[in-house]
Amino acid sequence: MYVRFKRKACEEVGIATFDTVLPADVSEADLVKVVRGLNENPAVNGILVQLPLPKHINEENVLSAIGLDKDVDGFHPLNIGKLCMKGRSPLFEPCTPKGCVELLDRHGIPIAGKNAVVIGRSNIVGLPVANLLLKRDATVTVCHSKTADIPSIVRNADIVVAAIGLPEFVKADWIKPGAVVIDVGINSIADATKKAGKRTVGDVEGALMATGVASYVTPVPGGVGPMTIAMLLRNTTDGWKRALDARQ
Ligand code: NAP
Repeated sequence: MYVRFKRKACEEVGIATFDTVLPADVSEADLVKVVRGLNENPAVNGILVQLPLPKHINEENVLSAIGLDKDVDGFHPLNIGKLCMKGRSPLFEPCTPKGCVELLDRHGIPIAGKNAVVIGRSNIVGLPVANLLLKRDATVTVCHSKTADIPSIVRNADIVVAAIGLPEFVKADWIKPGAVVIDVGINSIADATKKAGKRTVGDVEGALMATGVASYVTPVPGGVGPMTIAMLLRNTTDGWKRALDARQ
């Protein structure tokens, strides 16, 4: 679904896309060869390796093969490293975390000095979003599967980012009045009332929206998903502009 959305969004803004679909049993060496070929292709400004990769492939080796200047997903270990370092800036920030911060900025929500609680510490969402918020001077707490008493931590949060992958894990009554809640989760659950027999929910209890307790809650579907795509388009155009400048 995400790949389809990315392709459609590129089409809408005039970015040409093409896919290289490889068999699930492709060797790591062959996959790296494809990535290196794209690095050398001047017509390509952004390379996305769709994760997760099959288990026999070392993800870090593949992501490290992407040219830094074409790493529009921002997953190259060097870009992630710079994102986590004080005073350094990566060439690209990962799209979902960047989209979360952009949502806050676009709504004029202050970040500096606020208590931000990020639930989830994955390399693609939790860890980078926590670091981006830290860079913006939030006081950040990161919760994960071994964290004790998550509800009491969340109750202290001005900004909550839920990136867990468990349907409606964060309950409405954990949220402090006035808090801002960013729901990154995309989970499919069974629903006999729907034609497809399922529906999509976030990592935050859907009932939160109606309580009016939070000052903002991002919807699922919607919210972070479309922002992720928008940030991918921005990263790609930034990469293209940098490549043009470098040629002049
Ligand atoms: P992930 O790699 O599976 O990471 C999940 C994180 O949640 C891990 O850090 C894990 O902790 C933590 N976790 C799992 N169970 C927990 C529990 N019971 N209590 C507290 N923490 C727990 O997932 P992800 O790739 O970050 O994705 C998270 C969600 O965001 C998914 O629903 C995914 O579909 C969605 N997503 C949405 C977008 C978008 O554009 N909207 C983009 C990417 C992902 P440990 O580290 O301890 O295992």
